[in-house]
Amino acid sequence: MNDFTMNKGADGVAVITWDVRDKSMNVMTRASMLVLDGLIDDALADDAVKGVVITSGKDTFAGGMDLNVLASIREEAGDDPARALFEFTMGGHHMLRKIERAGMDDKNKGGKPIAAALPGTALGIGLELPLACHRIFAADNPKAKIGLPEIMVGIFPGAGGTTRLVRKMGAMAASPLLLEGRLNDPKKAKMAGVVDEVVAPDELLDAAKAWVLSEPAIVKPWDEKGYKMPGGAPYHPAGFMTFVGASAMVNGKTKGVYPAAKALLSAVYEGALVPFDTALKIEARWFTHVLMNPSSSAMIRSLFINKEALEKGAVRPDLEDQTVRKVGVIGAGMMGAGIALVSALAGIEVVLIDNTQEAADKGKAYTTAYMDKGISRKKATPEKKEQVLALINATTGYAALAGCDLIVEAVFEDPGVKAEVTAKVQAVTGPDCIFATNTSTLPISQLAKAAGDPEKFIGIHFFSPVDKMMLVEVIKGQKTGDLAVAKALDYVRQIRKTPIVVNDARFFYANRCIIPYINEGIRMVKEGVAPALVENAAKLVGMPLGPLQLVDETSIDLGVKIAKATKVAMGDAYPDGAVDEVLFWMAEEGRLGRKAKAGFYAYDEKGKRSGLWEGLAGKYTVAETQPDVTEVQHRLLFVQVLEAVRAVEEDVLMDIREGDVGAILGWGFAPWSGGPFSWLDMVGTPWAAEATNLLAEQHGERFRAPALLEEMAAKGQSFYGRFRPGAKAA
Ligand code: NAD
Repeated sequence: MNDFTMNKGADGVAVITWDVRDKSMNVMTRASMLVLDGLIDDALADDAVKGVVITSGKDTFAGGMDLNVLASIREEAGDDPARALFEFTMGGHHMLRKIERAGMDDKNKGGKPIAAALPGTALGIGLELPLACHRIFAADNPKAKIGLPEIMVGIFPGAGGTTRLVRKMGAMAASPLLLEGRLNDPKKAKMAGVVDEVVAPDELLDAAKAWVLSEPAIVKPWDEKGYKMPGGAPYHPAGFMTFVGASAMVNGKTKGVYPAAKALLSAVYEGALVPFDTALKIEARWFTHVLMNPSSSAMIRSLFINKEALEKGAVRPDLEDQTVRKVGVIGAGMMGAGIALVSALAGIEVVLIDNTQEAADKGKAYTTAYMDKGISRKKATPEKKEQVLALINATTGYAALAGCDLIVEAVFEDPGVKAEVTAKVQAVTGPDCIFATNTSTLPISQLAKAAGDPEKFIGIHFFSPVDKMMLVEVIKGQKTGDLAVAKALDYVRQIRKTPIVVNDARFFYANRCIIPYINEGIRMVKEGVAPALVENAAKLVGMPLGPLQLVDETSIDLGVKIAKATKVAMGDAYPDGAVDEVLFWMAEEGRLGRKAKAGFYAYDEKGKRSGLWEGLAGKYTVAETQPDVTEVQHRLLFVQVLEAVRAVEEDVLMDIREGDVGAILGWGFAPWSGGPFSWLDMVGTPWAAEATNLLAEQHGERFRAPALLEEMAAKGQSFYGRFRPGAKAA
């Protein structure tokens, strides 16, 4: 069965329906493009066809291009991948341009109207195809998302979307859609000028057909003589201001490390100066340029292909469905309240327990506030709020936990309290209930000792704030069984987050890498490196927050607590005495971070950061000679990356895909790199081993290349070459 089929009606309208059989959402492949091309030829050549409607057989239109296609073209192209990618892209342009011209001659005479009818979500090429049509009808479906999100995975719209949107709306109006990948519901998309009409869902096809039969004008403005770009072309005063502003904004936001945004802007600027068909060629050249950049292929691999694979259960044990129906959340504090919220939003019944009714109610109030905010932003309705709240039973009575198939415990970080709670819960729940702890620092295998059956005990580690952070770390204790893993993964799927599964070890995976990053920043302050250099070097290498800002956010006292506990656990092997001196001093000074409106940064009364705290220099003098920014960046990157490598060596990470996806979603590790392992492959293991050993000579043994990296460097191996996706790391 072809992905596109055509039905020529007696009314003269040929309806082309996109419906990829085994997928919940349509995606474009090479084969389906050829089929569509053939159908368009057929419809244009058939005198009985007066016009065409392109629609979907699903309640959505399309999710975009199958990005695996781009990867496979590059791989199949042998020694000239750029040519293959460019030709593929131009092939797409020819087909879409054929739709747009629809058989018109060069005097714009003749041609057949072609309308797009979108029942729901239309993303990427799922919107670029409609943009090539003559009119876009969208069903009034508030859940639908319409837009061009390519920039989020490190590329930009390369099937004419960039060139057409800018010509349709003007560069200024198109910029949030192109540069930020902003998605709109149909009504907003109409207001923005992306779609032309929003109609009731059951009238969608009829409205599109009626328009096609109304003998409408179909020449696109840019194919008319005297076309002027809305808002002005770049060489007009208004257009000039747009481009100056956009360049500054792009550089400010991307710090120069994301090639796609810059290439997009170049395609828009250069394309605006030339006729439409030349602009498409320019778009294709910049698109190829971006696809050839290792950063974009790494981003596509981690943020699209592997992220999706993990969400779809790439590492899930092959067991029957474990969908969660009733979850017990114990501890209604910051984390428990968020966990209750995301569970109820997923339609799961929640029992939210705390020591006092007041605390339990406070936890539930978090959901009330969240829904109220959603209502004020028109993202939720009062009915939805009632539905979600009705799913949460906030109580102190453990008896309410009867019938729960999953428990997530989020009480104080104290093994004694956790053990007591585990016993109390298990006195009520049945033998099949899986017990998960949200601990950040306590070993799962230790906590499991308080549980009746350690096979059914697991870690489900959320990140704060729960409703915003997309990663969930699932931790297997020594005795955790497959059923518990499957349950945890099905739960993560239900709440629409991305899971990674790791083995139990101190700080699991994410915190294991992020704590050394913070510590390295603090260590540099102690050494006399200017705090502004530390923070800016981090941001220039693509970290969302510098280490000092990060510790201010997570709080200095939490850092002190973790440092003390780690020291007790590690004894003489504890490596971070120098860091603690600074950290403990900050805590003594009452500079506990953003919550205290005082930390490494200074804050105004409203808690807004007002710059680095000048008082720090009084205690830790800034040295006269400062290191090179690259050296600071290498220190900050390698401390994280080496931990990731050690996590593979120690079998904490079982799949490097999880290491890369987890790093970007969990703590924002330089997303342009595709994650720590993609970064190592990009720079090459031989260079990485040499560079980090040099850092070890200068700054200490923590930078010494781990044996695995040494071995791979000696053999010239890459991580994605050696640890093929899915293969168990060894
Ligand atoms: P919190 O102090 O905000 O909340 C803990 C809640 O548990 C409080 O409401 C407390 O009243 C309740 N509680 C304590 N003992 C209880 C008992 N015996 N029975 C029922 N309720 C009890 O703490 P938090 O930040 O939400 O952290 C909770 C857990 O999540 C900890 O294990 C922590 O390590 C982990 N965690 C925290 C973060 C974070 O960023 N805060 C991130 C990941 C994991």
